[in-house]
Amino acid sequence: MSKRVLVFGSYVTDLSSRIQSFPKPGQTVKGREFRLGPGGKGSNQAVAANRAGADVTFVTKLGDDLLGNQTLDFYGKEGLDTQNILIEKGGQTGSALIMVDESTAQNRIVVVGGACEQVTDQDVEKISGLLDQTDIFLTQLETNIEPVYKLLETAKKKGLLTVLNPAPAQVIDKEYMKSVDIIIPNETEAEFLTGVTVVDYDTAKQAAQALFDQGVKGVVITLGKRGAYAAYQGEEKLVSAVDCGSAVDTTGAGDAFIGGMVAALADGKGFFDAVNYGSVTAGIAVTRKGTAPAMPYKQEISRYYQI
Ligand code: ATP
Repeated sequence: MSKRVLVFGSYVTDLSSRIQSFPKPGQTVKGREFRLGPGGKGSNQAVAANRAGADVTFVTKLGDDLLGNQTLDFYGKEGLDTQNILIEKGGQTGSALIMVDESTAQNRIVVVGGACEQVTDQDVEKISGLLDQTDIFLTQLETNIEPVYKLLETAKKKGLLTVLNPAPAQVIDKEYMKSVDIIIPNETEAEFLTGVTVVDYDTAKQAAQALFDQGVKGVVITLGKRGAYAAYQGEEKLVSAVDCGSAVDTTGAGDAFIGGMVAALADGKGFFDAVNYGSVTAGIAVTRKGTAPAMPYKQEISRYYQI
């Protein structure tokens, strides 16, 4: 039977538009191709794991506003267990205002974390109760940090497999690294946590060793189109990125990888097989525009995935 996964993390609504050039202060410019869609690392990873075949409960905090209601609609259609999503009365659902300059492909982004940065001790109590029916706990660093620490610690005490995507890069209290079984940073986050600039296999190995020294048991450092370095129980591998067609949008590639990998772990796959499954999941996601909507389903991943 598939193991149960609880993802605790952020939700923000992405509001993005493409423009010919960024407006100057006080200037209004006409944009085009406005898109509104679900975003946030917690949400993206929960959707990815769910589509990749895992039994996922997602917990975030939304405001009781228009964006919050739309989000619940989206999750309902997605078939994700969201019964335990927290709602902050009078609160604001997180949002990201994204402007993309069409000529340079540069972007300017304003993120307002909103409700998902207001998770309280009382909320943590509720989520802790859910961990009793959970086998794998996955989280990131996009909410306020205290709940992340407390939930990792509780999950570890309860004997769950704990997975941390340490993004966005920020200082993590060393005390809590002991509660992390598997850590999945990208190159920037790995450098931030270890001081090692990851440029190749040897430097990835050094960074992984520094993370093992901090108490984790498994490390995956994602390296963009170069693939991922993975190390677990004395074994290590450089896993190539999977070519599933031309890459059109790599935003959320890391989220796809992590969601896919966790779904495979929930399905009872070993560490390195799960890394391969994550690579395929990300390899497909980058061939499509968007983040959550780009996440592939189990049947699609199965076409490429062989162990
Ligand atoms: P993001 O922050 O945009 O989610 P990230 O920096 O966390 O991305 P990356 O290291 O860029 O994550 O990519 C994660 C994984 O996605 C890689 O390990 C690789 O397996 C896959 N990937 C990334 N880019 C490509 C690509 N162009 N083609 C195929 N696979 C890719």
